[in-house]
Amino acid sequence: MSGICLYCGNEWIPPVSWSSFFTVDLPSYLCPECEALLEPVSGMTCKICSRPLEKLDAQFIAGDCCTDCKRWEEDPEWRGLWQENHSLYVYNEFLKEIISLFKFRGDYCIAKAFSGQIARVAKKMDYDLMVPVPLSKERQYERGFNQSEALLIEAGLKPFHALDRLHGEKQSKKSRRERIHLNQVFQVKAEANIRGKKILLVDDIYTTGSTLRHAAKVLIGAGAKSVSSLTLARG
Ligand SMILES: [Zn+2]
Ligand SMILES: [Zn+2]
Repeated sequence: MSGICLYCGNEWIPPVSWSSFFTVDLPSYLCPECEALLEPVSGMTCKICSRPLEKLDAQFIAGDCCTDCKRWEEDPEWRGLWQENHSLYVYNEFLKEIISLFKFRGDYCIAKAFSGQIARVAKKMDYDLMVPVPLSKERQYERGFNQSEALLIEAGLKPFHALDRLHGEKQSKKSRRERIHLNQVFQVKAEANIRGKKILLVDDIYTTGSTLRHAAKVLIGAGAKSVSSLTLARG
């Protein structure tokens, strides 16, 4: 059986090992050369946001967290609203390229490349409902799909649509202060019953954590028991 790499289009023959008679290997949609360019998040990471601490300058580390998370947790308005983030890969140049094909060129198939890993990690996490971070209506219309939802569906997981996005995605151009004080961009859908539920938010990239924390705030406000997140990339 051969495979066609979703990224480079090269055909390759997955090696048949003796062990594959006994175990079910994760299906692979990237060739070994492309797969090797992905950098799994590993080593010492911030216990809240899973940012790799080894690459950070000492001034941005506060015990077992990064200083960004410490600042959020020091703010009584945001403290304890969101449990933790788990990211699969470092947002390196290769992953940036893959995600841009996926999001901006509408290459929906790319979601398959991560299906095995997402399913594997989701199995280890404690949650009742998986909630994809929504796009605004305009953005979803432009793109044709929500990339976070695509990651879940391709991994065989069931998305629970608990949130609406009220406006604007372009938060990255604003300063940290502006982002924190920005009006809430999410709203819990009136019909979504999340009371007492453990929510796992799913997004493609964790950048500043602002999006996920804003989402956590409305979910907790609507009665969710806890909110954590799973993201493909850690920026
Ligand atoms: Zn390839
Ligand atoms: Zn952190």
